[in-house]
Amino acid sequence: MSEFILVLDEGTTSTRAMVFDHAGKLHHVAQRELEQHYPKPGWVEHDASEIWDKTLACAREVTEQAGGAHRIACIGITNQRETVVAWDKATGEPLCRAIVWQDRRTAGFCEDLRAAGHEADVQRRTGLLLDPYFSGTKMRWMLDNEPAVRAAADKGTLAFGTIESWLIYKLSGGAHVSDASNASRTLLLALDGAQFDTGLCELFGVSGAALPEVVDSSGKLAMAKAEWLGAEVPVTGLAGDQQAATVGQACLSPGETKSTYGTGAFVLTNKGSEIPRSTNRLLGTVLYQIDGQRTYALEGSVFVAGSLIQWLRDSLGIVEVASQTEELARSIPDTGGVMIVPALSGLGAPHWQAEARGVINGLSFSTGKAELARAALEAMAHQTHDLAMAFAADGAPWETLRIDGGMSANNWMAQDLADMLDLTVERPEFVETTALGTAMLAAAGAGIYADLNEAAATLRGDLQSFTPAMESDVREGRLAAWKKALIAA
Ligand code: ADP
Repeated sequence: MSEFILVLDEGTTSTRAMVFDHAGKLHHVAQRELEQHYPKPGWVEHDASEIWDKTLACAREVTEQAGGAHRIACIGITNQRETVVAWDKATGEPLCRAIVWQDRRTAGFCEDLRAAGHEADVQRRTGLLLDPYFSGTKMRWMLDNEPAVRAAADKGTLAFGTIESWLIYKLSGGAHVSDASNASRTLLLALDGAQFDTGLCELFGVSGAALPEVVDSSGKLAMAKAEWLGAEVPVTGLAGDQQAATVGQACLSPGETKSTYGTGAFVLTNKGSEIPRSTNRLLGTVLYQIDGQRTYALEGSVFVAGSLIQWLRDSLGIVEVASQTEELARSIPDTGGVMIVPALSGLGAPHWQAEARGVINGLSFSTGKAELARAALEAMAHQTHDLAMAFAADGAPWETLRIDGGMSANNWMAQDLADMLDLTVERPEFVETTALGTAMLAAAGAGIYADLNEAAATLRGDLQSFTPAMESDVREGRLAAWKKALIAA
């Protein structure tokens, strides 16, 4: 009996392989760091061959620990989204470095398209905004600036893909597919279109022939060749990391919402089969696709979350480790009027002000480390509150909020979120929700469970709840002070 599910979790800074059993228990993990290349300010690149080599090494390591490939029922892949790989179908080798999601080199092209009046139509069709973050303009940049990519396009051997697409190509020895959740981050997929859109490809100047086939996020998607793990293993789950975390938090019904607090914060609300249309600068995205049917989500991302705590630690030296912010916050009754707007790299949703910069308001001689640490944690609830307002205005109010990510370990922050949002906040005991959600998609896709609901019900672990306990005048006072500070950012 193949009792294990192998999850490949392709992060931005590392690649991991994890082995889960059918009950969602994690048995084995292998991890390798990925080299980050910064050739110019604002440019971020990865070596796609390194990603493949390290993924394979991690997968082989945990497969061996699990007792061999015959004990692995299926593979699920989750990945850093929007990062683009260009490779040659004739050789199976990358044609240039991968352009990473954080890369800003196509800002000018996005600006030109915006100035030409394309944003409203692009947003209506794709759910996205004209921002270098998304994959389409990165592909166009490669075609214009990498001669090997252009030559392969001319010969008809060019393949573009996001990271899950690249890994499937390598694992299967030639399948060129992308799951709908990743495809929906390219600007080239209409939210209601089964395959990449000819009109959008023309607008962005990307040749459709180089794009993968858009497939489901769960099901029999590809077969990993026997030479990699020792036996053939089917790939049955695929999803972008934030979508996978949403599944891992079992947000499978409309309205259910998760927020991941890592370096940045990502909130997704399940919208069911309804195509999300935001008038508040949130993104519409595919949550997953099963049997050709899409489930959508509304998404809001905040650029600075845990990275603010890193800044307190590394640049200001206020704490030695991030978790100390919790005891500092608890050591005082309030911040004494100190308010931080963490716009250190601009403001994301719903403000989208790339030029905004951070603000610390209300300093006095009684301001010390504790006040700053507490104000930094409070800023997470303030930023999340702004998103909550935008989601509600877009017709997707939250009933509870399910949190995860490294920063969610902070109990003070979790309680403050519940207090400021006036909502129950739930945190799973097992916080690796991205990997768990991928395991759920893969298990359902392999037929281990009848469907995703059954997989989620079985694999999801215990939760801890935080219930609101703040007086409304305190909440109102903080929100008013936050609004005032935002104006200065
Ligand atoms: P990512 O996946 O984006 O690399 P993680 O989910 O691993 O991030 O979360 C790490 C971030 O969370 C770091 O920025 C760190 O500063 C912050 N962090 C981790 N633990 C705590 C804590 N107990 N309190 C506050 N911040 C924390």
